[in-house]
Amino acid sequence: MTDAAPDPGAPPGAPAFRASVLTLYPEMFPGPLGASLAGRALAGGRWGLEAVQIRAFATDRHRHVDDTPAGGGPGMVMRADILAAALDATAPADDPRPRLLMSPRGRPLTQARVRALAAGPGVVILCGRFEGVDDRLVRRRSLEEVSIGDYVLSGGEIAALVLLDAVVRLLPGVMGNEASGETESFESGLLEHPQYTKPAVFEGEPIPPVLLSGDHARIARWRRDEAERVTRERRPDLLGRAD
Ligand code: SAH
Repeated sequence: MTDAAPDPGAPPGAPAFRASVLTLYPEMFPGPLGASLAGRALAGGRWGLEAVQIRAFATDRHRHVDDTPAGGGPGMVMRADILAAALDATAPADDPRPRLLMSPRGRPLTQARVRALAAGPGVVILCGRFEGVDDRLVRRRSLEEVSIGDYVLSGGEIAALVLLDAVVRLLPGVMGNEASGETESFESGLLEHPQYTKPAVFEGEPIPPVLLSGDHARIARWRRDEAERVTRERRPDLLGRAD
């Protein structure tokens, strides 16, 4: 549960965006998403979150969900049959929500994919553990494999929290128009321009004078130029895609 304050402007009825997370560690949810803006929006019914314990679908006495890899090698692999039972119970075939598998072998998550997910009815997210999941499940349940970066986590839960945080901040009423700015990093294919606020002088360094000029056209041009400069220096790979 969360200790977030209730949201007086909450929409009545079921949340428009519903996330179901299949995991061996349901206690990791909502976790950090129970705090701050996401937590208030969750308590206020602007989005819904259900954490499903995969182990509840195990069939043997010891509630095993994994077994040794076919062909040998280290570690354990999550069984297709148990994951399929958990998925089918959580999201029947007519559930319109996309089914994601968090995976370092997936397509890297982008702001464009985040925005598309936020515009939909929700997500069903499967969190892997151990060496991952039996590949037959991925194909037979048409799972979209999503990676949050080129490194290996110990499980999909933190990756799911990252994805949900990025999506939830875009839902209506969660952040106002702060999250919709076209200059925000990745929205235009560029990193955002640098930001400044008070004090006017910090350790001898003033705010760039153009930002205090009141000339909105000059400020917009400066920001665009700075966004391009920063992107060229730090992420030249993004520039080819910028519009
Ligand atoms: N043996 C696998 C890694 C398994 S890590 C391989 O080499 O590809 C265990 C689980 O953590 C994965 O099933 C996945 O759900 C999650 N995970 C690890 N790294 C991730 C990443 N970069 N993005 C998303 N999920 C990740």
